[in-house]
Amino acid sequence: MERYLTVVEEKADLLRETADYLWDNPETAFTEFKAAERICKVLRDEGFTVEEGLANIKTAFSGTYGSGKPVIGILGEYDALSGLSQESGCTERKPLAHGEGHGCGHNLYGAGALGAAIAVKEWLKETGHPGTVIFFGTPGEEGGSGKAFMARDGVFDGLDAAITWHPGAKNKIWTAMSLSNYQILYKFDGIASHAGGKPELGRSALDAVELMNVGVQFLREHIPSSCRIHYAITDTGGFSPNVVQPHAEVLYLIRGVNNRIVKEIYERVNDIAKGAALMTGTKESHEFIKACSNLVQNNALRKLLHDKLVEVGAPVPDEADIRVARAFAETALAGYPEADPEDPIYRGIEAYTEEETPDFSSTDVGDVSWVCPTAQIQTATRAKGTPAHSWQLVAQGKLPLAHKMTVYAAKVMAAAVVELVQNEDLLRQAKEEHQKRVGPKGYEAPIPKGVVPRSMDSLRK
Ligand SMILES: [Zn+2]
Repeated sequence: MERYLTVVEEKADLLRETADYLWDNPETAFTEFKAAERICKVLRDEGFTVEEGLANIKTAFSGTYGSGKPVIGILGEYDALSGLSQESGCTERKPLAHGEGHGCGHNLYGAGALGAAIAVKEWLKETGHPGTVIFFGTPGEEGGSGKAFMARDGVFDGLDAAITWHPGAKNKIWTAMSLSNYQILYKFDGIASHAGGKPELGRSALDAVELMNVGVQFLREHIPSSCRIHYAITDTGGFSPNVVQPHAEVLYLIRGVNNRIVKEIYERVNDIAKGAALMTGTKESHEFIKACSNLVQNNALRKLLHDKLVEVGAPVPDEADIRVARAFAETALAGYPEADPEDPIYRGIEAYTEEETPDFSSTDVGDVSWVCPTAQIQTATRAKGTPAHSWQLVAQGKLPLAHKMTVYAAKVMAAAVVELVQNEDLLRQAKEEHQKRVGPKGYEAPIPKGVVPRSMDSLRK
């Protein structure tokens, strides 16, 4: 086995401890202080030069090792989701005292990416080969699009390529396309009054929110079917029906296949908000919260990652892994179409494909993929059929299967980066393909200047 791969095995305990620490201390978008501190400590201990507070975000950072070209980035995430805490390994819903949980497996994501960066660093150190590896600590993927703020501020500009992964239910290269999105907070101001005694004096902000939602409902028929519009009422204006609500807020999330389409829909939603204000005699204002771009695929890097998935070889689940996964398939995942008690864990590696499969979710990896050639893999860290953003996923985030598939991901990414550092032709090919795909204009940041990241709590009234 190549030396840089044995390094990952030697660091397996460190990666497991890091992943478990993140799982035990779940933190939502832009409040990942413990996670950032822990990962920065590991990077410093390993000899990386750490830079914190990237793009003016306290929990965004980088760890750099090596010198000269090429410069390859490895992206790590570590944010959790609210409302998803769950006891580890438990097949029944059993929340823990804190409300947050790693419902997207970003505890593993951060640790696996860190393992890859450490292995590449060791290889650079031992061989003295020119090249630079940078681990990017990218916060707030969930609902915050940390990477999009970082990309807007030029954090990824010097990269020749970026590699990453995501915990999943299969071992494969990433084929799913992801949607661009915009998130906007619409605010309505009206006039409070006694709802029974003087209703004619009141102007209801809550009515405006409801009418806006009805208007958007009619809009949904007249947008491309690949687009999505979601909303959450973050401020209903109070809990008293006998008071006309003087202020109300609704948070919109608009998705589409690229930034241009999302912007067009956003402008139509703005008109609906204005209409709702006119109908109710209230005032409307809105605040741009965040955005992220669609994913630009890169077949040169996808093929490289696929070859490394095969070369490193997927670990075979043991009896204990299968027993636990079967328990999940039989109870916690009963009724989920892909759950399979007979054969509960995905095995093998999906065949290479250049297909780009439609997908209706979004990721801020999209913004990095507009800046430089970017590709990612997933490994089967959990039982088949486990839905993303679920307590069932949280429950499996600290199990032996999750740990060993994180180590596998780290090895594959390290092998890909080591190859990329040495293989100039391959890197050139990846860059030419990237250039063709993004076109002469290149990346245009969807987040306007001056917009700063907001934590979940700051959006909740
Ligand atoms: Zn995720």
